[in-house]
Amino acid sequence: MSLAAERLAFEAAHIWHPYASMQQPAPVYAVRAAEGVYLELADGRKVIDGMSSWWCAIHGYNVPELNRAIETQLGKMAHVMFGGLTHQPAIELAERLLQLLPPSLQHIFFCDSGSVAVEVAIKMALQYWQALGARQKTRLLTIRHGYHGDTFGAMSVCDPESGMHHLFTGLLAEQFFADAPTAADDAAWDDAQIDAFQQMIAAHHDELAAVILEPIVQGAGGMRFYAPEFLRQVRALCDRYDLLLIVDEIATGFGRTGTMFASEQAGVAGDIVCIGKALTGGYMSLAATLCSAKVCAGIHADGRGVLMHGPTFMANPLACAVAAASIDLLLASPWQQRVAQIEAGLRAGLMACRDLPSVADVRVKGAIGVVEMHEAIDLPRVQAALMQQGVWLRPFGKLLYTMPPLTVSAAELEQITAAMRSVVASR
Ligand SMILES: *Cc1c(COP(=O)(O)O)cnc(C)c1O
Repeated sequence: MSLAAERLAFEAAHIWHPYASMQQPAPVYAVRAAEGVYLELADGRKVIDGMSSWWCAIHGYNVPELNRAIETQLGKMAHVMFGGLTHQPAIELAERLLQLLPPSLQHIFFCDSGSVAVEVAIKMALQYWQALGARQKTRLLTIRHGYHGDTFGAMSVCDPESGMHHLFTGLLAEQFFADAPTAADDAAWDDAQIDAFQQMIAAHHDELAAVILEPIVQGAGGMRFYAPEFLRQVRALCDRYDLLLIVDEIATGFGRTGTMFASEQAGVAGDIVCIGKALTGGYMSLAATLCSAKVCAGIHADGRGVLMHGPTFMANPLACAVAAASIDLLLASPWQQRVAQIEAGLRAGLMACRDLPSVADVRVKGAIGVVEMHEAIDLPRVQAALMQQGVWLRPFGKLLYTMPPLTVSAAELEQITAAMRSVVASR
């Protein structure tokens, strides 16, 4: 049964979608169920989700182990406040996360979304310097083409051109932006690539609280990959100038780039790390901000410090339970092999697009495949063409890209890349 036309008219009139106009709503497709890597539309069609619901659904949908974790927890309690109370799901998840992340990260703050995790990270960095008496250290340094979320602190460090700065000029905290490196890997690295960043740190470290970056892969700010050597040198500069490094692993965490966390590829640990998106395997909204013992000690350095944050749904038990189950499922799976196979499949399926005149670049990293066009993509038209071939993708700007569930089969992956090739070729 498809969704009745009148219900779709109601939805178009009243329900906002991400980054969307309410007055000229773009087409939306109704989904009635999801199973494995497939979304089942209200009209009965099944399409492969090449987006993993924006990086989240690493195991695909309707996963028995994850369903069971939520059902079991639901029979005990769906939620209790975290102020003055605690529970097993939060403790068990924290144990797993501290095992997975570098040992220097010792303290964890559970948040309800990635943007909030970034706000908390910024707040930790600011409180750290305030408590230590360095009151002038209030600003952040980042690189262009970044994306860190849609709340005000997070927006202030998103790319100043592709982000939302133009909408909120004068209202966002003013941060420092260095050019992003263009070398995509260490083979292409040249030390000149960090000059701009180094000069900015040297000039402004007195007023800087922290550097914030997405490690190795910049997601929604442009789907760009950069050399691990850049991250290594950023870490060294932060140490030299005594700045905190905030690593935003919200998109890259949980295997997507071939390592559990992308910063492992540089052998670098942040002083503060944000995780989210795939944390619950895409089942519920949950994120976390972790910090080192040094950051924690700094926040308390004035002897009365408390971290001033506390979301209503902090450490929601259902979300923590499914996150722990998702991590167990990932660790029990051959995820490294799967990501390597997806990477090979994406290369085999997409690299041929390089020769097309409409294509500016094709790049693949782990389970992420990107075709960058010369011109902006006509979203409704391209999306409809992809759907005809049984594939769900959501291009933005000039970028047609996929980050499928890690459980995607070789044949399903070929269906995704074939659909991408055909829409690129038809331009
Ligand atoms: C998606 C994302 C965020 C924001 O997470 P939300 O859960 O959407 O608030 C922050 N940083 C990065 C790198 C992201 O990809």
